[in-house]
Amino acid sequence: MNEYEKAECWKNCSPEQWDDWKWQIKNRIKSGEQLSKVIKLRVGEKEEIDECLKHFNMAITPYYASLIQADNPQCPIKKQAVPTIAELTVDPCDMADPLCEEKFSPVPGLVHRYPDRVLVVLTHKCSMYCRHCTRRRVVGCEDFSLGSAQLNAVISYIREHTVIRDVLLSGGDPLVMSDDWLENIIRKLRDIPHVEVIRIGTRTPVVLPMRITDGLLNMLKKYHPIWINTHFNHPLEITPESVKACQKIADAGIPLGNQSVLLEGVNNNVDTLKELFTKLVKMRVRPYYLYQCDVSKGIGHFRTNVAQGIDIMKHIRGYISGFAVPEYVIDAPGGGGKTPVNPEYIVKMDDSGVTLRNYEGKTYFYPNPPR
Ligand SMILES: *Cc1c(COP(=O)(O)O)cnc(C)c1O
Ligand code: SF4
Repeated sequence: MNEYEKAECWKNCSPEQWDDWKWQIKNRIKSGEQLSKVIKLRVGEKEEIDECLKHFNMAITPYYASLIQADNPQCPIKKQAVPTIAELTVDPCDMADPLCEEKFSPVPGLVHRYPDRVLVVLTHKCSMYCRHCTRRRVVGCEDFSLGSAQLNAVISYIREHTVIRDVLLSGGDPLVMSDDWLENIIRKLRDIPHVEVIRIGTRTPVVLPMRITDGLLNMLKKYHPIWINTHFNHPLEITPESVKACQKIADAGIPLGNQSVLLEGVNNNVDTLKELFTKLVKMRVRPYYLYQCDVSKGIGHFRTNVAQGIDIMKHIRGYISGFAVPEYVIDAPGGGGKTPVNPEYIVKMDDSGVTLRNYEGKTYFYPNPPR
């Protein structure tokens, strides 16, 4: 436990309880009433939250709730965790399933969009339900995890398709499940000779860092190469606890990447993202993607103009270490996949060569070899 203040309602919990991920999950905040005991809410805010909860779930771990700056109406932690009435506004462009994951799903729970890799949605549960979640059509709406028959169908599909060399376990958050449940799946995947890499997508290092136990890591280590991608969006999420979780993962030999989402009012400015990305590499987490926010229902208030995202990237690439700069991508609505959107660095290109614009806006010429 560290510098943050625990709310009154948790003052009696022991350090052992606080550091136990199962206690954190059991004590998640799921209603406006519970939240009002943890942070001071605006007049009418509790009612607003309850209205949203008729449509979407809320769950906030006590740990993540303790990071909320109650006196800051623009708190980036709060914006990611606490629903607002804006979620009930549906934009004309909104879609329930913008990435067409259902269309690309040959068997339930598996999405096969790219040639050599698949996504497996193991569960719809998460430890915290992010307000900006892309998969909010399913995540947190139903208490679903793949059953053994469905799991066998997923494993059979992967076994029969020898082109699949990379399996991405996602959800929901696979790490809300028990070590044994996960090991059962990972072992079966490891038994398939053409599966080279197993990846896990999880937000637990950010919202439930106590989930990263020695037991979990000792289990994962047996099945290398395992990669983990996590989801930090703001420097305030970098705490002694989350740093320690990432350190343990890296020490277990698991390369760690980060997938951020560009979110209006949370992190859509150069300084915040520069601080986030440089702090991540300091804790051995490689910024991997910066996502343009998807067109899922009820998250329009988080979306930014694409031109702004490109401009932000223009002020980041070249200014900080290359490996601290993620790829800015739009996951193309309609199922087009992740598509890089970059500032324009090529001014002109013909047979004679390429005129380049560098990060400072100066132009240079690279000559093509003569034919
Ligand atoms: C994001 C994603 C992947 C992984 O893509 P990478 O670019 O390799 O990280 C695989 N399948 C689906 C369906 C995805 O959405
Ligand atoms: S952790 Fe991921 S899947 Fe879960 S609510 Fe957040 S964004 Fe959605």
